[in-house]
Amino acid sequence: MSPQDTTDLTSRWDTALMRNYGTPPLELVSGRGVTVTAADGREYLDLLAGIAVNSLGHAHPAVVEAVSSQVAELGHVSNLYVHPVVVELAERLESLLAVEAPVRAFFCNSGAEANEAAFKIARRTGRSRILAAENGFHGRTMGALAMTGQPAKRAPFEPMPAGVEYFPYGDTAALRALVEQAPADTAAVIVEPVQGEGGVVEPPEGFLADVRELCTEHGILMIVDEVQTGIARTGAMFASRKAGVVPDVITLAKGLGGGLPIGACLGIGRAGELLTAGQHGTTFGGNPVACAAALAVLKTIDTDDLVAHVDRLGKLLAAEIECLDHPLVDHVRGRGLLLGVVLTAPRAKEVEEAARAAGYLVGATGTDVVRLAPPLILTEDQVAQFVTALPPILDAASEKETSS
Ligand SMILES: *Cc1c(COP(=O)(O)O)cnc(C)c1O
Repeated sequence: MSPQDTTDLTSRWDTALMRNYGTPPLELVSGRGVTVTAADGREYLDLLAGIAVNSLGHAHPAVVEAVSSQVAELGHVSNLYVHPVVVELAERLESLLAVEAPVRAFFCNSGAEANEAAFKIARRTGRSRILAAENGFHGRTMGALAMTGQPAKRAPFEPMPAGVEYFPYGDTAALRALVEQAPADTAAVIVEPVQGEGGVVEPPEGFLADVRELCTEHGILMIVDEVQTGIARTGAMFASRKAGVVPDVITLAKGLGGGLPIGACLGIGRAGELLTAGQHGTTFGGNPVACAAALAVLKTIDTDDLVAHVDRLGKLLAAEIECLDHPLVDHVRGRGLLLGVVLTAPRAKEVEEAARAAGYLVGATGTDVVRLAPPLILTEDQVAQFVTALPPILDAASEKETSS
């Protein structure tokens, strides 16, 4: 970031906030649909949606209405009391999962917390080992971090909670070998259906089914982290269900609340019974306002047929980018509106910067993948607009001097 972009607000951020994020390049003040507006009045097409969170875009009328009327009615009760919205949301998620066994929900406020709950459920099996994928991402709290297969993220915070071991993502044989070292002590396997933060990495066809089979064979819980892939993001309500798999635990967050902070840990069958009274909790989890937002998101996905829309638009967006045949683009991977543009050179950061200069928000993951996770309401016109703008963005990124 160049000094002339630094305004007073950004320097106040630098002073007032902890240094864990680095200095953001942009000050945003409002949003409508897929568009956000910066402090200087400039508009951007938001193709990252607050990291796959703003599923209905910004200020969607259904979310605004649900949140406003709920906060005016009953804003918070804690889990000491029943309120109708939390029950309705739990039941709605159960019916969307469409599994035979009963489903129980635990609500929290983030993806990391949903995975912490899953971690504790795993411990309650009486077994201690948890197997997680290399390059996976499950969050920044200690339990979620322990399951995150990225050593550099864990290293500054060691020692980690014990018992987590890692296997190469998508490698059934390696996972089987690891399980078989101590099957009776293995509590759970946790996987993402597509690795999101890890660079939009898809496992080989059939991998989730293989994990399911292996877990069933040894009485191991299968935890599927759908924090990023869930709630229609990949062109299916749940990527794991689309793959024909019934996990024991599914974790959700990001897109669920349409911008409101909410996470969910869903236990299917026995897994839903393992936490007993007093063993886990959260003050804000299941907050009526956040639950109302989630219900509005789920209802809109249904009434606007967004699952099919995301599938179609994702395929269109991926195909159009590949069709550009630009020398910096190797291929596009991912599913639905969770796409990774794989570059032929380590220029992801430069693409992110050039895109922003052209009025588009995208996200570099790693050095050579650009992630697109736009609102699910993205239109064909917006796809066309971005694809038209992309060649000069890619040219600029190719020519740009490497920024750090
Ligand atoms: C983002 C993410 C998390 C962490 O969610 P937070 O809300 O940031 O705690 C966990 N798992 C996956 C797959 C994610 O993409």
